[in-house]
Amino acid sequence: MLAAIDEDRVVADLRELVRIPSVDGTTAEADVQSWCAERLAGLGLAVDHWRIDLDAVRADPDFPGSEVERDEAWGCVGVLGEGGGIPGLVLNGHVDVVPPAGEDPFAGRVGDGVMYGRGTCDMKGGVAAVIGAVAAVMSAGVTLARPVAVHSVVGEEDGGLGTFATLRRGHRGEACVIAEPTAGQVIPANAGSLTFRLDVTGLATHGSTRTRGVSAIEAFERVHAALRHLEQRRNAAPDPLLSHLDVAYPLSVGTIEAGDWASTVPDRLVATGRYGVRLREPVERARHELEAAVAEACAGDDWLREHPVAVSWPGGVFASGALPDGHPLLGETVAAAEDAGAPAAPAVRGAPYGSDLRQYAAAGIPTLQYGPGDVRYAHAADEHVRLDQVLHCARTYALLILRRCGS
Ligand SMILES: [Zn+2]
Repeated sequence: MLAAIDEDRVVADLRELVRIPSVDGTTAEADVQSWCAERLAGLGLAVDHWRIDLDAVRADPDFPGSEVERDEAWGCVGVLGEGGGIPGLVLNGHVDVVPPAGEDPFAGRVGDGVMYGRGTCDMKGGVAAVIGAVAAVMSAGVTLARPVAVHSVVGEEDGGLGTFATLRRGHRGEACVIAEPTAGQVIPANAGSLTFRLDVTGLATHGSTRTRGVSAIEAFERVHAALRHLEQRRNAAPDPLLSHLDVAYPLSVGTIEAGDWASTVPDRLVATGRYGVRLREPVERARHELEAAVAEACAGDDWLREHPVAVSWPGGVFASGALPDGHPLLGETVAAAEDAGAPAAPAVRGAPYGSDLRQYAAAGIPTLQYGPGDVRYAHAADEHVRLDQVLHCARTYALLILRRCGS
């Protein structure tokens, strides 16, 4: 079975995928889904390739949000072993990438067993491995007792509308592995993250008479200190799956805009940032804690009491998510990775970032992540993936397909 992995073809698929510059919000997102639909159909899978009704998806109360403009998006699901009921396994990968950096980001250059470029690590390497696994099952002539499904999605990087639309279309499975880069670890849990925005009001005056005004920057300093304390409190006792991290649930201010003139006391400041959601914590509770911390900081200040900081929540909503405790998919994935030749049993750890895992979890589909590449190189100028890891993951997925769906 493992010998059925066509290594050259997996690498060729990865290069073809990387050469489609499927940056979020560009028309190449549609191109890469067409490529996947054709490739999966060519392997003999039953393919559902559909234009996502963006208006309907955005109007859904559970829409996970998006951060780029898009007037077109496509879904692509391939099912092998049709007619056998609900798939015993879903393999998910996103084919959208963040904007490029570095030289020749879409060339798919290979050197020393490594492929470089945007999307190699996050996560076309995983997608190529998934395709390689399914192709191996086909070419080995295995008859599946239960179907296996491949979910290729767009829009993951800016919120997750592709997986959302795929699940809304009714695609399901008994368990799911997301091929995101996990550096050899099995990741059964993701903390979540939210984007927050703070609007701080001050009182403008000439800088030479600054005590007659109120600086929005100085007002923000008080709020920022409160946020630092909030982060500390929320990280006092993180879940054991995240205890290897120095900060499991980071709160980070990413942008600040204030003032319009050097000698004017600024009457307005807008800050945006990223806020971690704890494992098993509802998004609403996380939002409430930050809003309460800001309100408390304002209540302790004469100016802010009368002019409280406004908190809003733009952008994507990444809830946290976790594989149910004791679910067999965890042990099955560890065993498959070892049997596929992992040098040691994969470590099992949670990750501090959100992914589509939480959408499958919310839909009642037990899900974990295991895939090629190291997330440190995702989105980086020197993004790359080791090809031996891609091939190892193809073998691991092939074993998982056999064991979960085989006769
Ligand atoms: Zn990713």
